[in-house]
Amino acid sequence: MNSAAPIIEMKNVSKWYGSYRALTDVNLSVYEGEKIVVCGPSGSGKSTMIRTLNWLEAHQEGDILVNGIRLHRQMRNIAEVRMDVGMVFQHFNLFPHMTVLQNLMAGPVWVRGIPEAEARANAMTYLERVRIPEQADKYPGQLSGGQQQRVAIARSLCMKPRVMLFDEPTSALDPEMVSEVLDTMIELANDGMTMVCVTHEMGFARSVADRVIFMDAGQVIEENTPAEFFDNPRHERTRLFLSQILQH
Ligand code: ADP
Repeated sequence: MNSAAPIIEMKNVSKWYGSYRALTDVNLSVYEGEKIVVCGPSGSGKSTMIRTLNWLEAHQEGDILVNGIRLHRQMRNIAEVRMDVGMVFQHFNLFPHMTVLQNLMAGPVWVRGIPEAEARANAMTYLERVRIPEQADKYPGQLSGGQQQRVAIARSLCMKPRVMLFDEPTSALDPEMVSEVLDTMIELANDGMTMVCVTHEMGFARSVADRVIFMDAGQVIEENTPAEFFDNPRHERTRLFLSQILQH
């Protein structure tokens, strides 16, 4: 076990949407450099769980600490927390009226107060890292889905986050574009980024994850190494899920 404090800590977190309980006593610690894959059936609470980590959804019970800062209703420094926590969504969420470069510069200039020239140079560095520097002056609508998702990843990286959250980043893509986004994520993982990824890409989970979290009905049912998770799952529900998903 890592002796440093975790970057993310969830302790007995529960969340309701009205009277519907979406999360029940979720516990999770993510340490620097770790790659966590979260999987489970549709509606099991994966997206809700990951969205509580940067306060896109509020939890009602338990504690969430990000870099040691406790997330709660009265907090004033949520922008500060979000700067450390990058998020990549299923549907990219790029600004359609801004070029790729402008999308990448917006956060650093507006939120971090970085001078434009520095933000531009930084943005180009990250576009090169996701291998699409030649797309800098295009608008998102002129790019393929895979390219847009790589822009979204670069945009997050421009904020120099300590941890990156991915919420099904490949599930809205045409099949032929999935691998280019997964390759970008693998490179990021190899560079040592701390990552929490909700994904159905079990090949990615097997090769990249340090730990796999399996959720069902708002609960963490199993937390395991990929080798154990896939070859020797502890729970019947995990086995059932794997048998269904690996058939496809
Ligand atoms: P997953 O990511 O595993 O598919 P979600 O976290 O999206 O699951 O959803 C968990 C449960 O919470 C589902 O039953 C879903 O219908 C419900 N839910 C999600 N978002 C909302 C919302 N904004 N309002 C009400 N119910 C929601």
